[in-house]
Amino acid sequence: MLPNETPDEYKSLYLKDYASFVFQNKLEDFVSAYLINIHTNKVPLLQFFSHLSDEQLMAAAREGIVRLLKGIENGNAIDDVKENLRQWKLNLIPNIPRDAISLKDITLIYSAQKLSFQSFLPYYTTEVAVATQVFSEIDLFYKQVQEMALGILDIITKEEYKKRLESDEKYRNLFDNASDLIHIADTSGRILYVNNAWLSTLGYKPIELEGKHIFGFIKPEEAEHYKAIRQKAIEEKQPSISTRINFIKADGQEITVEGSINYKYKDGELDYSTALLHDITTNLTHEKQIQFYLHRLADQEKNLRDIIENAPDGVIVIDKDNTIILWNPKSEEIFGWHKEEAIGKKITEIIVPPALRAAHTGGVSRFMLTKQAKILNQTVEVPALHKNGDQFYISLTVSHSTQNGKDLFIAFLRDISKQKKNELELENKRNQLEKSNKELEQYAWLTSHDLKEPLRKILTFSDALLKKDDNGLTEHAFSYIQKINSSAGRMKSLIEAVLAYSNVSTDSDLFVETDLNAILKGVLDDLEIIIETKNAIIKADALPVVEAIPIQMTQLFQNLISNSIKYTKSEKRPEIRICCKPKLEGFEIMINDNGIGFEKAYYDKIFQVFQRLHNRSYEGTGIGLALCKKIAETHQGTIHAESEVGIGSTFIIYLPEKHAPVNSPAI
Ligand code: ADP
Repeated sequence: MLPNETPDEYKSLYLKDYASFVFQNKLEDFVSAYLINIHTNKVPLLQFFSHLSDEQLMAAAREGIVRLLKGIENGNAIDDVKENLRQWKLNLIPNIPRDAISLKDITLIYSAQKLSFQSFLPYYTTEVAVATQVFSEIDLFYKQVQEMALGILDIITKEEYKKRLESDEKYRNLFDNASDLIHIADTSGRILYVNNAWLSTLGYKPIELEGKHIFGFIKPEEAEHYKAIRQKAIEEKQPSISTRINFIKADGQEITVEGSINYKYKDGELDYSTALLHDITTNLTHEKQIQFYLHRLADQEKNLRDIIENAPDGVIVIDKDNTIILWNPKSEEIFGWHKEEAIGKKITEIIVPPALRAAHTGGVSRFMLTKQAKILNQTVEVPALHKNGDQFYISLTVSHSTQNGKDLFIAFLRDISKQKKNELELENKRNQLEKSNKELEQYAWLTSHDLKEPLRKILTFSDALLKKDDNGLTEHAFSYIQKINSSAGRMKSLIEAVLAYSNVSTDSDLFVETDLNAILKGVLDDLEIIIETKNAIIKADALPVVEAIPIQMTQLFQNLISNSIKYTKSEKRPEIRICCKPKLEGFEIMINDNGIGFEKAYYDKIFQVFQRLHNRSYEGTGIGLALCKKIAETHQGTIHAESEVGIGSTFIIYLPEKHAPVNSPAI
């Protein structure tokens, strides 16, 4: 504390006079004696005046002494000192930092001044009493001054100490809680300090580190190498090195840290070292992962390139301006343009036929505006242009993609000119076949129809002859007429069968919802006599309603059931089972009998026109099953047979529930 009151003892009679005497007679000697004393005592504060020349130093000292002597003379010396001390406390003294002034400075400066001041007493008085008085007054003055100075020093020292403590605490906190790993080691590498991040990252407890060297925590196979690096850095007096260290954690895992080690030297020798390290294990793992993905990406890219290069289809990539940016070898083959020629050109210039260019460009522009395109991701057949000017068909699938924000269109295409040609040929053949089929059917119908009349006559007259009692025929002639009559009868059945076959209509308009139960009932009614005659048992499941031509359904069931009754041994009672189950979008109907059956070799053959297996023993035309097949197909269904000789046969018909109209009739 700066004393507020000037002590009474200091107010003396002689000191003022003595100060005046010294000022007038011994000023220069006082300044010289003072400077000599200061130099002799090596006052530390002198270092702040080292930039001054001797004259400048002398002038500065003189100014101070004059102010002192005048102050004593005027009675305000203590106030002046107080002001000086106040400036010191507030760190306002030019060129001298506040905490640079030490106890030693204060003691030495004031004792130098005091000694110099007292040394002129013999010139002032020879009276012992006066000299003693002045001496003690000077002593008292400096005692007061020194006390005030020491009070200030004490305040400053305490403040500085407090500050340093706070600052140390701050550093300590900073170190302790830094996210990087920090350790301090002594000259031999023994650990002096580690921060929290170091402990938590490596998983050790502080006690486990006590007295341990840092090398003990480094991956064993790298510890020697690290020691050597440290040794070299110290020998070369390097202030710091950058390093990467692999530590072994408490759980045995390895971590990689990177950072700097700083070496602090004192008197040319290593004092201690500090390390500031950053855990880069995750970064390394990420780096490794990134490397891995980059490799994989490169592999994938290569694979993709290989696929495109060797693709069996043409692959072309264009940008939004129609400029070709990828053209694979197959495209070269399809269009005749080499990759070097094609890349950079507009697709419309080289492979889009002139008639389609405007539409193509418009389509791309429209897509760029609306992001909608009918053609995208669909396979379409379009005409394309070869380098030689030929126009041909390609199948084309275009998809859209963006790469680095740029719109790209990827086209996969295939030359389908051959396929188109085949299709065309097939279509022609189909048309021809259809035409000739129609002609044949017409011919068959016409001839059958025309044959009916003469046949009717043969039958009528032969009937008449056979029925007439006095026909005058010999026995021989009668038997001939009988044969003619029965042949004509068979021929009539044949003609009717052929007519029925050629009359099967495919007209979509004839398809109506048809209840097959009703159809079956009608058929069984028609076959009533034969069923009774043969004593046949017929069992049927409930049948579905399908879209069909009713008359053809009747024909189908009639042919199959009558065959099942017909193709049984005379002594065996026919048993017929009609089953039904749903299948796909329709039904499977099975007509099973216990008849004579037939061999597997004939499963298909029996459905051909005029194909009969049991010619002699059973009457028939060989058209019934062919007709059934034609009916099934007209209904977009199928029919096939399974049979075992002596056990029985099953005819399996598939009929769709709904009839899908077709543009062209089945061949
Ligand atoms: P057909 O007028 O001769 O009966 P189909 O076309 O109806 O002519 O039958 C062809 C041939 O298939 C028959 O001649 C017969 O040999 C054989 N067939 C047809 N249905 C049966 C059946 N249910 N059992 C055994 N054979 C059959």
